[in-house]
Amino acid sequence: MEIEVTAESISEKKGLPAGIWTKCKKCEHILLQRDFEENFMVCPKCEYYTRLSPSQRIAFTVDEGSFKEINANLRSVNFLNFPEYTEKIGMAGLSDAIVTGEAKINGYNVVIAIMNFSFMGGSMGAVVGERIVRAVERALKKKWHVIIISSSGGARMQEGILSLMQMGKTSAALVKLADNGLAYISVLTDPTTGGVAASYAMLGDINIAEPKSLIGFAGPRVIEQTIRQQLPEGFQLSEFLEKHGMVDIVVERKDMKEVLTRFLKFFSNK
Ligand SMILES: [Zn+2]
Repeated sequence: MEIEVTAESISEKKGLPAGIWTKCKKCEHILLQRDFEENFMVCPKCEYYTRLSPSQRIAFTVDEGSFKEINANLRSVNFLNFPEYTEKIGMAGLSDAIVTGEAKINGYNVVIAIMNFSFMGGSMGAVVGERIVRAVERALKKKWHVIIISSSGGARMQEGILSLMQMGKTSAALVKLADNGLAYISVLTDPTTGGVAASYAMLGDINIAEPKSLIGFAGPRVIEQTIRQQLPEGFQLSEFLEKHGMVDIVVERKDMKEVLTRFLKFFSNK
C-alpha cells in the first residue's frame, strides 16, 4: 500500500494542528510554515519562489505598520457585458489586481504599488491603471519615489480596449516622475508578461527582477512560430534578461528590502 505523505498527514502523525506544515508547490518538500515564512516563502530545497500575496509582499518589503492603502474604493465596471466578469471582479475580499499605498522602507518614504497575481492573473484593467496614475500623482505631491512590484499575465481581455489604454496612460504618468527628479523603481516578479511587461514594468529608472522570473511580452511558442527559430535556453528568465541588458539587477527575495533601501538612498542624495 502506498501512503501519501501530505502536510495534513504529518500534522496528524505528530499531533500538531493543521496549517503548521506547508509544502513547496514545485518539489513538494514539506516544511514548517514558520520556517517557510522566515525564508521569505522560498523553498530551501529547490529554491522555488512561491508567489506572494500583496500582504505578504508588504510584510517582506516595507517597515512594519507603515503601509497605508490609498484609493482602495475604485472598482471596475463590466462595460462590455463580458460573461461572468461581474462575478469575477466582485471576488471576496479583493478589490482588483493591484494594491497601492504609502509606506516607509528603512525610513525612506515611498509610494508603492503591488500587483496581485491571484486576482485574475494580475491582469491590467482600468482600476490597475487608474491606481498607478493616482499613486504617481500622490508621489509627485509628496515628492516621494515610486516602487511598483509587478506580477501579471498582461492586459485584461474582459475590458477590451480600455485595458490596452492603460499601457499609454501609466507610461505617460511615470514620465512626470522623471520630470520632477523623482525615481521610479520597478520590481519584476514571476510572471511579468504581456501589456504590463510592455509598459510600466520595464520603464523603471532601475529594473530589478527576482531570480528565475518569467518576463516577456509574448510566450516562447508564439515567438518561435513567428521567427521560425528555436529560442535559447532560459530565454525570458530574469538572469537571461539581466545578461542582455533588459533587467538591471537580479535580486534574491531575502535581499530585496536592503537593495531597495540602497537605491532609495542613492536617489535621495542627488
Ligand atoms: Zn521546492
